[in-house]
Amino acid sequence: KDVTFDVTLRPVAGAGLLIVSFQDITHQAQAGQMRRDFVANVSHELRTPLTSLMGFIETLSGPARDDAAARDRFLQIMQTEAGRMNRLVGDLLSLSRVEAEERVRPTRQINLAEVLQTALRNLNPLAVEAGVTLRPDFGCDPLPILGDADQLLQVFTNLIENAIKYGGDDRPVDITGELSLRDPMLRGPSVRITVTDHGPGIPAHHIPRLTERFYRADSHRSRALGGTGLGLAIVKHILNRHRGRLRITSEEGQGASFCVILPRDVVVSDAL
Ligand code: ADP
Repeated sequence: KDVTFDVTLRPVAGAGLLIVSFQDITHQAQAGQMRRDFVANVSHELRTPLTSLMGFIETLSGPARDDAAARDRFLQIMQTEAGRMNRLVGDLLSLSRVEAEERVRPTRQINLAEVLQTALRNLNPLAVEAGVTLRPDFGCDPLPILGDADQLLQVFTNLIENAIKYGGDDRPVDITGELSLRDPMLRGPSVRITVTDHGPGIPAHHIPRLTERFYRADSHRSRALGGTGLGLAIVKHILNRHRGRLRITSEEGQGASFCVILPRDVVVSDAL
């Protein structure tokens, strides 16, 4: 493992001695590097659609000015590119917001089943369009936790939307929920929500890196589907805030499973 040291030399007056001190600044050096990488990535992701927009503006104000068919086609592409930039800026704002709130523990009692119902309702049109059946199976009992409903809605929206986008093509998506009194991962009471698709799955070597910003297992497919590469990074920060976990499993060719494990606090009354 690489370690970065800050070395200082200090002479001891009159003693002919030199004190050498080492300070381990590995963490700061890594944080600085990550920040620089992030800014470079954001610039690149914004510049690609911007360059395309500028090119089309130039063509439309010059050679294609009087060509109605070309104008319609170009305007459609420009709309797609502007939409891509808009989604990216929206996700960057979400990311910075959830990062800022990461240390503030949620204190509200919420019913996770309601959050899931809202996510399913919102995503139904997208599922219908992709020919995907959403198959929820978490009963009609409440799933009580201490949480931020808006943020958890974002978690399940991202996961179900990914399952539709990447698993899609007429294959169903299963959403299951279960309560545990002693979760083997959290060693306490938990709610586990699992989103499973039956698509191509994810090669094992990508799985540990999927929650990194801008990391994509299949970059071409992600971009073609309008992905920003930030969805799972946002999910990770929100789950950190809730002291939750994300377990990703996949068998290539069989599909992928994203399991969210959230702690249930003892102060939460099950009679929600
Ligand atoms: P994106 O905007 O690219 O979808 P995410 O952070 O949501 O970004 O996901 C990161 C990457 O993880 C995606 O680009 C995709 O390669 C992979 N991925 C996420 N969900 C699935 C899934 N259900 N099936 C296959 N690959 C997935």
